[in-house]
Amino acid sequence: MTTLVTGGAGYIGSHTVYGLLDRGDEVVVLDDLSTGVRAQVGEGAAFVRGDVGDRALLEATIRDHGVDAVIHFAGSIVVPESVADPLAYYGNNVVKSREVIAACLAAGVKKLIFSSTATVYADDAAQPLGEDERKAPLSPYARSKLMTEWMLEDVGRAHDFRYHILRYFNVAGADPKGRTGQSTPKATHLIKRAAQVALGRLPHLDIFGTDYPTPDGTGVRDYIHVTDLAAAHLLALDALHSGAPSATYNCGYGRGLSVRDVICGVERVTGRKLPVVEMARRPGDPPTLISDPRCIKAALGWRPAHEDLDGIIRSAIAWERRFNS
Ligand code: UDP
Repeated sequence: MTTLVTGGAGYIGSHTVYGLLDRGDEVVVLDDLSTGVRAQVGEGAAFVRGDVGDRALLEATIRDHGVDAVIHFAGSIVVPESVADPLAYYGNNVVKSREVIAACLAAGVKKLIFSSTATVYADDAAQPLGEDERKAPLSPYARSKLMTEWMLEDVGRAHDFRYHILRYFNVAGADPKGRTGQSTPKATHLIKRAAQVALGRLPHLDIFGTDYPTPDGTGVRDYIHVTDLAAAHLLALDALHSGAPSATYNCGYGRGLSVRDVICGVERVTGRKLPVVEMARRPGDPPTLISDPRCIKAALGWRPAHEDLDGIIRSAIAWERRFNS
C-alpha cells in the first residue's frame, strides 16, 4: 500500500511522512516546494516536484507508484494573504483540491484525508467545539477549506469514495527527533514567534489583545503538538483502509491555554524572562478556540502523547535553533 502525500514537504505534511516511514509504509510526496522544504521530506519517500493542480501529473504519480490513498495537505494557509488575494486561495485550495479528487476518481483511488481548520466554525459557537457546531468561516482561507469539505461530502455521496476530514486547532512544536519542524520564515504563530524571541532572533513578543473575555484577558487556544496531529492522520488512514465510513474530526486536546500561559511556559523552559509588548487585538482573532476531541478519540482511538506544554515549547525552540543555525 502506497500513500500519496500532497504538501509532504510542509510543516504538518513532513511530520506525517515521517510517521508513515517510521512504521514502514510506502510514501510518495508531491510538492511544488513553494513553501515546503525538500530536505524535510524523510529519506525513503519518493519525491515528485510539481503542482498539485496538475491533473496529468497527479494521475501519472498515482499510477506509477501504485497509490491507494491520498493525504492532501497542499494548499495556502495564511489568513491575511487570503483576505488580500481571495482568488489565489480559491484557486490553490478549492480548484486544485478538485483536481486531486478528480484524479483519485479517474485513477481508482477511493480514500482521501483532507486538512481542514477549526476556523470553519462560527465565532459564537459553544466551546469546546464539537464537529456539529455551526459553521461560519470568515476568511477566504477558511471558506476555501469548508468549500472543499462540501466537495468531498458530495463526491462521497455520488461515488465509491471515502474521506476523513481533520479540522486542525493550533498546531505547534516539532519532531521530537529533530528531523523536521515549522520552517516558514515569516510564520506568525504564537509558539513559533515565542521560540524566535527566546533565541534572541526577534526583540520581543507582541501580545495581541489583553482585553478579551478570557481568564487573563489574552486569547485562548488549543495548542496541539504536530507529532500528535501526524499520528491522527495515520489512524485516519488505517480506519479508511479498514472500511470506515467518511467522517470529520476535530484535532485538538480539549485544553485552552492563553497567550500568557504560553509566555510562562517559555520562561519556565528557558529560565529567562521573555520580553513582551502588549498590543491591540489582531483583527479577526476570536477570543477562544478549544476543541472537543471526544469523537476522534472514540472513533479512531487517538491517544495524544505530547500534550505537555513545556515539551511542545522545548521542541519548537530546539527546531528553531537547528533550522536557522
Ligand atoms: N498571538 C500573539 N502574539 C503573536 C502571535 C499570536 O499574541 O505574535 C496570539 C493571537 O492573538 C491568538 C493566539 O496567540 O490569540 C494564537 O495565534 P496564532 O497566530 O498562533 O494562531 P491562530 O489562532 O491565529 O490561528
